[in-house]
Amino acid sequence: MKYAEVIISIRHKSLDRIFNYKVPENLEPDLCIGMRVIIPFGKGNKSYEGYVIGFSESTEIPDEKLKGIISVMDKYPLFSENTIRLAKFMKEKYYTTLSECLQCIMPAVARDKIQRYVYLNKKNENFDELFEKCVLKNNTQSKVLSFLKEFDGASVNEIKLLTEVSLQPIKALEKKGLVQIFDREIKRDVLDFSSVRQTKPFEPTDEQKTAIEFVKKKFYDEEKKPILIHGVTGSGKTEIYLQIIDEVLKNGKQAIVLVPEISLTPQTVGRFTGRFGKRVSVTHSRLSIGERFDQWKKAREGEISIMIGPRSAVFTPFSNLGIIIIDEEHEHTYKSETTPKYDTREVACETGRIFGALVVFGSATPDISTYYKAKTGIFDLVTIKNRVNKSFPDVNIIDMRKELENGNKSVFSRDLLNAIDDNLLNGRQTILFLNRRGHSTFVSCRKCGYVMECEDCNVNYTYHISNDRLVCHYCGKSLANPKNCPQCGSKYIKYFGAGTQKIEEETKKLFPEAKVLRMDTDTTSGKNGHENILKKFSGGEADILIGTQMIAKGLDFPNVSVVGVIAADMSLNSGDFKCAENTFQMLTQVSGRAGRSEVKGKVFIQTYNPSHYSIEFAKNNDYLSFYEHEIAVRKQMMYPPFTNIFFIMFTGSDEKKIIKSLYGLIDIMIKFNKNNQFEHIGPSPAVISKIKNQYRWKIIVKGEIEKNLKNYVLYCLDRLRESRDLSGINMNITLNPVYIM
Ligand code: ADP
Ligand code: ZN
Ligand code: ZN
Repeated sequence: MKYAEVIISIRHKSLDRIFNYKVPENLEPDLCIGMRVIIPFGKGNKSYEGYVIGFSESTEIPDEKLKGIISVMDKYPLFSENTIRLAKFMKEKYYTTLSECLQCIMPAVARDKIQRYVYLNKKNENFDELFEKCVLKNNTQSKVLSFLKEFDGASVNEIKLLTEVSLQPIKALEKKGLVQIFDREIKRDVLDFSSVRQTKPFEPTDEQKTAIEFVKKKFYDEEKKPILIHGVTGSGKTEIYLQIIDEVLKNGKQAIVLVPEISLTPQTVGRFTGRFGKRVSVTHSRLSIGERFDQWKKAREGEISIMIGPRSAVFTPFSNLGIIIIDEEHEHTYKSETTPKYDTREVACETGRIFGALVVFGSATPDISTYYKAKTGIFDLVTIKNRVNKSFPDVNIIDMRKELENGNKSVFSRDLLNAIDDNLLNGRQTILFLNRRGHSTFVSCRKCGYVMECEDCNVNYTYHISNDRLVCHYCGKSLANPKNCPQCGSKYIKYFGAGTQKIEEETKKLFPEAKVLRMDTDTTSGKNGHENILKKFSGGEADILIGTQMIAKGLDFPNVSVVGVIAADMSLNSGDFKCAENTFQMLTQVSGRAGRSEVKGKVFIQTYNPSHYSIEFAKNNDYLSFYEHEIAVRKQMMYPPFTNIFFIMFTGSDEKKIIKSLYGLIDIMIKFNKNNQFEHIGPSPAVISKIKNQYRWKIIVKGEIEKNLKNYVLYCLDRLRESRDLSGINMNITLNPVYIM
């Protein structure tokens, strides 16, 4: 008797272990590691889904006590023994259960799409004779036969459509033994290859050449450290990736290219399909489950060699993975916000270790912690200091306090206005960046000072001019814009705090002749909303593109020579320990959109904090000095990468209970804080202290050793659960979150 080792899909710590099940003889031939099975579990023998992670010939449990597998759900494995190792790594790293990690790695399974295919049955001894006879006798059937003679192997649907016959004659031909009908599995294409224009490799610049050679050399090395390519914006990192991938494919291996979802534009994908054609596919959340599953199967069966996609593409099941490239590695979307809260970069490095693949990170503005790894020898470092076109944009910092002193109350400084004007005259394009959608972010009564705020959240309403409504950006609630103050009835309502709609309105007022596009969540709904705007802009259908962070990164438009940052301070005032880093990255990335071809780029950064170091270093495109400054601050303040931060947030409708429970947690934490290894901050209200009527309070715990900190916090939370009723409280815990909430 064979026993299967099964992980049960119930999310509970006490059930997070292997259960043994008997494999009935009739199921044995079909069952492999990596398949899902239905198993009975618990006293009532309820049916659950389980995942087979191994087999054994014997167990310690007496045979009569063991239950049997009821059925097998899959035709082929959804994960391998190596991916089980990866799942075990994720389980430890992200304090969750093995079943949740396996679910995260496995594809969402869709039913195979089957098409019936018709072939001429040339194996039939009397084929020629029957064929002649049929062609002479039956008009309709002869149509099908001559079609098949030209295109042997066509789907029933194609035949019906192109020869205008019904199913009946095809069936009749099958009966006669002239054709055979088979089911064939269809894997949908998700890329349109008809418009792909083939490209040849560029002659690399000297810096590109050095980078390519360095990475190629490491690719053949036994020991594979991850490599960070720090290359300024416009330094041609994509060309480097393409030439490295070429080498990887020549070795019969495959490549995964991770990009932030927002950068997964036709332009980006086109660079890869232009070089590698149909060996490329993509996966992302806008595809249907069936489409995504088909791409997963193509990778597994070797029909493609390059998968491009956002974070979940890291789980692509290539048989001989050679390289994982993580472009724009500093992007916070590489961290998953749902359980398991994995960091794609860490998962990629572990995948590289398990599968023997090289991992390459690329960015113009590396994450401070990543660069620290490169500086301390955990990663290898390659630096590219120059743009391909050798020309950096001129960056002008504009002190908005001085504008006000000089009587300019507009959202645009005079210099920016003049530059836009010049640009329009010269037929060049402009990008205006403001990371805030809507029209006005602050609506209040001038008479009594009342501020329009969402009742369910502790958040100001944002005014949207397109539908004349107030919208809460946290719960989505909206209401008609009141004409009178809800508190005192006065009609003196004032709108402050510009959003992208306001910038659009002002731009159209100031430049009535310009064609203006706006790109933010409000204008990009629908499957291709995002692509359509970019297509219009790159096709020259607009002079000015206004947008939020959606337009800040990755875009390569040669005709853009002016970039304006309307309010650089917004991210500086977020109160997060990463605010300087975020500001520097944002400014460098947005500036990098300007002057990417022959024309010199000009950037205007409007700010009330012109001397802040993140702004000054961004002006000079000086990542290294920024890094040196920032890493010193981190060390002094004991922030990552010098420590780890565990963020604990309790939410619920009973605010008192939340606060009491958090104080209870602090008591427990103090008791178990041996040698004062850990530092606690809080409880205090979260930055947004109420969303959808759920109060939000937090504790922050710092500790130098990740594993100790994790064990400590999880242990204390367990003690809290034992000692108190926590019903109605939702716990949200995150290690080293992207934002301190
Ligand atoms: P990055 O990703 O580093 O910001 P890109 O990969 O977008 O830079 O490259 C910037 C531009 O330079 C692109 O238009 C690209 O086609 C072009 N380019 C890259 N390498 C070369 C080269 N060796 N010769 C000429 N043009 C190049
Ligand atoms: Zn009022
Ligand atoms: Zn709300």
